[in-house]
Amino acid sequence: MPADRREPGQLRNWPDKPGDIRSMNIRAAREVAEIVRSTLGPLGMDKLLIDDDGMGIVTNDGATVLKQMAENPVLTIVRDASRGQESAVEDGTTTTAVLTGHLLAEAEGLLAQGVHPASIIRGYETALERTEVILREAAVTVAPADIDTLRDVALTAMTSKGVSSNDEVLADLVVEAVERIADEDGFDTDDVYVEKEPGGWVEQSSVASNVMLDTGRASAGMPRRVEDATLALVDEDVEVTGLRMDSSTSVADGATAESLRESDRRSLDGLVDSLVDLGVDVLVCGGRIDEQVRPALDGAGIYAAERVDDETTTQVAGASGATVVHDARTLEPGDLGSAESVMELLVDGESRTSVEGFADADVVTLVLRGSQMNLLEELYRALEDGLEAARLALADGGVVPGGGASELAAARALRTFATGVEGRDQLAVDAFADALEVIPRTLVENAGRPPLDGIVALRSAQERDGVRIGVDGHSGEPVDVVDSGVLDLFEVKEAAIDRATRAATTILGIDDALPTDENAE
Ligand code: ADP
Ligand code: MG
Repeated sequence: MPADRREPGQLRNWPDKPGDIRSMNIRAAREVAEIVRSTLGPLGMDKLLIDDDGMGIVTNDGATVLKQMAENPVLTIVRDASRGQESAVEDGTTTTAVLTGHLLAEAEGLLAQGVHPASIIRGYETALERTEVILREAAVTVAPADIDTLRDVALTAMTSKGVSSNDEVLADLVVEAVERIADEDGFDTDDVYVEKEPGGWVEQSSVASNVMLDTGRASAGMPRRVEDATLALVDEDVEVTGLRMDSSTSVADGATAESLRESDRRSLDGLVDSLVDLGVDVLVCGGRIDEQVRPALDGAGIYAAERVDDETTTQVAGASGATVVHDARTLEPGDLGSAESVMELLVDGESRTSVEGFADADVVTLVLRGSQMNLLEELYRALEDGLEAARLALADGGVVPGGGASELAAARALRTFATGVEGRDQLAVDAFADALEVIPRTLVENAGRPPLDGIVALRSAQERDGVRIGVDGHSGEPVDVVDSGVLDLFEVKEAAIDRATRAATTILGIDDALPTDENAE
């Protein structure tokens, strides 16, 4: 059944004129924007959401707010835009939703003046294209050596992720990771491994070049330490098929039992021999290592760790250059990796394995410390955003002034540009500029200042001192945001404006929603 199918009783609420559907949709999108708006920026308010079961959750992340809101077709469009933003660049989700709502609010004004929706859509598309050019011109590229800039970018991106008391520590970790592994092409976030280590203080988090496995040696007969290690990684059990030496097996015929045992022996020897031939001295196994196999590994002087989780195995693979295989018997020389040393350590009374000195020097492990796992998870999510921000800053786009400075500057440039646009599209370009200003205005408002005075003060400060003037997120006053270290990513901003424009024009383009078959018949 189509989602918009209505009960007969509801039909009298069905709008008579096509335009009514559009204004209903616009109103819905504006309401969504209004709800998430108060979460924007460093002083964004927490929202208390109540789900169907009456459970409350507190969040100040716009995307989370949207995820929790009840179903409705317009909400779906806004939410998809916001979600797409999150999965693409992990930031700018609130901006996307707020801007969508305000592009529609401005459009509503134009519709009331009799401007045709097609003209608004065209004007918005022209304005979007122009805004991208303006932003790109304003963007500054960042080099790995610009440590202070990278730190600022990471800190700004972690704003409103609920980790404000620890954000400095996290930003330092981001910067240290970047210093170790970034080159002029930037770095790959997959090369940064994050280990969550419960216990201790967040300040004790550190950067390491090893990967820790949460188990030690599979048996005490294995070496405690292997230097210059050749690693094999297997993600399933290591066993010898047909190995049936346990007493539960009853084989009537003694001779058959003997020959079975003999062939098992051979396949076991074959497995271990082939590991030895390959030069493997460390075996990292995702599954179990069969009890029968362990003594043979001991005998061959192979260090083996079992039940290593997939994530850790993947890290070791990436760092050591090894390929993870399912079955130890299919290992080939090309699957093996290397590390300077592998050793068993006792950490808080637990046996662990430390693998260090990798072939690929461009990987780093961030060891996050924190009292509890849920704190660690929260820190981890923020850290991921900080890392992604640093990555994007080093990628082509670079950074733009934050705190609404770029939106305000783009709005000013767009208004000048609009004078050259033909016909009624010009009005839409102007409206687009007005909508962009919702970002600085909201930051002023969320800092507790009157929005109108704030925006006027900002405009004249920018007029006087240039595009680096934005909103101080705490006082709501105009400030040089570059000096105060509030930097946004070009790519995040461009993507947010692009997604918002597309969501708004999609909603504007819906001029009618036909009631279902009952009426058609
Ligand atoms: P989003 O989901 O859109 O990223 P945020 O709540 O993270 O929403 O807010 C992002 C906005 O807040 C950006 O415009 C950014 O420039 C601004 N911002 C972040 N930190 C500050 C700050 N300290 N002062 C002023 N503005 C800030
Ligand atoms: Mg953000």
